[in-house]
Amino acid sequence: MNLVLPSHAMRTLPIQQVATHSAELKSFLFEQTFEAEPGQFVMLWIPGLDEKPFSVSDVRDGRIEITAKAVGPFSRALMECRPGERLGVRGPFGRGFRPRGRGLVVGGGMGIAPLRYLVHRLERDRASFRVALGAHTAPELMYAVDFARVGAHFATDDGSVGEKGVVLNLAERLCADQPVDVIYGCGPEPMLVALQQLADRLRIDCQLSLERYMKCGIGVCGSCCVDGSGICICREGPVLDKAELDRVPDFGRPHRDATGQRRS
Ligand SMILES: Cc1cc2nc3c(=O)[nH]c(=O)nc-3n(C[C@H](O)[C@H](O)[C@H](O)COP(=O)(O)OP(=O)(O)OC[C@H]3O[C@@H](n4cnc5c(N)ncnc54)[C@H](O)[C@@H]3O)c2cc1C
Repeated sequence: MNLVLPSHAMRTLPIQQVATHSAELKSFLFEQTFEAEPGQFVMLWIPGLDEKPFSVSDVRDGRIEITAKAVGPFSRALMECRPGERLGVRGPFGRGFRPRGRGLVVGGGMGIAPLRYLVHRLERDRASFRVALGAHTAPELMYAVDFARVGAHFATDDGSVGEKGVVLNLAERLCADQPVDVIYGCGPEPMLVALQQLADRLRIDCQLSLERYMKCGIGVCGSCCVDGSGICICREGPVLDKAELDRVPDFGRPHRDATGQRRS
């Protein structure tokens, strides 16, 4: 049944398909019962366990996809979920990417997941864009074949795919080669800080997707609220532009954990 529910309402949806990239990296597909923009996320509930945020990694052919890596108790339990099992899904939440001009899409590690949907959207809209993706090793470069189709450039720490080194060097070179109006970034926060600095140096805009500890997803509980400015990353983010990033004093610095304390 295809019910139109408000985004904060919980839907319980059966997993339609699981795509296994490796034992620790899988994509889960659900029937598309709601619209989502690239960069938005959902709160995924495993009954009896917990509820955690995951970016939408694609929307097509009537299905919504999320891609997860096993890092702790929730994501490990998710790896065991099979087609037919029902999970709770709330969302979509937050503000995603706002495409404009000539884009450079830069992703690192798990940050590649939401960029897959962004790239599909840019392609659909015939936008001008290039892609640079980085990971430690080849198996972590998920959907490499799909990205290669749009001419993506790759970097790995061990040189197993693309050039050897970090994705930032690749991004700098691509910016030097051809004009770029905006850098879209998702990945580890040190990489995002470096991208912001690159955008500053080149006097171009950037839209970077941040992660902060999230519980409600709708800007009520305050878990992901930034000191000083009061920006709720779950509501005003997770994708922030350059002017918004200037209002996040803990960007690139220790931020709050599940208890609300700052990590050292
Ligand atoms: C907006 C957003 C989008 C995300 N998209 C993805 C994605 O597409 N794929 C993916 O694999 N992961 C994504 N994550 C991270 C994902 O939420 C965590 O990997 C997951 O919650 C880990 O839970 P765990 O119990 O397995 O591990 P834990 O051992 O509990 O946590 C491991 C790490 O995950 C992070 N984390 C844990 N709980 C939360 C929470 N409630 N909110 C934010 N971060 C948390 C923390 O950095 C923690 O150190 C996203 C996080 C955010 C905020």
